[in-house]
Amino acid sequence: MPEQLPTARYCVVCGHTLIKRRIEAEGRTRLQCESCGHIHYVNPRVVTAIIVEHSGRVLLQQRAIEPGLGKWTFPGGFLEMGETPEAGAIRETKEEVGLDVTITALHGVYSRPHVGITLIVYLGTSESDAAVVGDFESMAVRWYAPDKIPWADLAFERTEQALREYISRTTAIDL
Ligand SMILES: [Zn+2]
Repeated sequence: MPEQLPTARYCVVCGHTLIKRRIEAEGRTRLQCESCGHIHYVNPRVVTAIIVEHSGRVLLQQRAIEPGLGKWTFPGGFLEMGETPEAGAIRETKEEVGLDVTITALHGVYSRPHVGITLIVYLGTSESDAAVVGDFESMAVRWYAPDKIPWADLAFERTEQALREYISRTTAIDL
């Protein structure tokens, strides 16, 4: 396994030390509190994102932080507790590029099991094309025509996969 999953050392219930223990009923080794028996579950985290369309172009932002510093991706981020995936994607898009987006479809679900990430990508439209750099995570925003997407400079493998699938679907229609 090339990357370690996020882990913890102490029990969130009582503060005692966690130890690795095989949970026979689940057939897995998990972190469990030595004192109160609380099991520290580590599950994949959900990231939501939107491919925003306007006048036949899609919005990408250039990342200002690692991972993917200087590379391009669509707006998105980690889902918060109490949020639906759609609401999370809309919130992230507003925060990161300043656009009020309407979701039009579910584009696809992508996963990186070895690092515990599940990515849900939607398609969305914006009435305005006045995108801005909304927070510290990006340094530039730009609308790209399908034939101008910077394939060599995309931030993540799943960004590229989602955009390639987007292009193959939309160009089959009319662009
Ligand atoms: Zn405990």
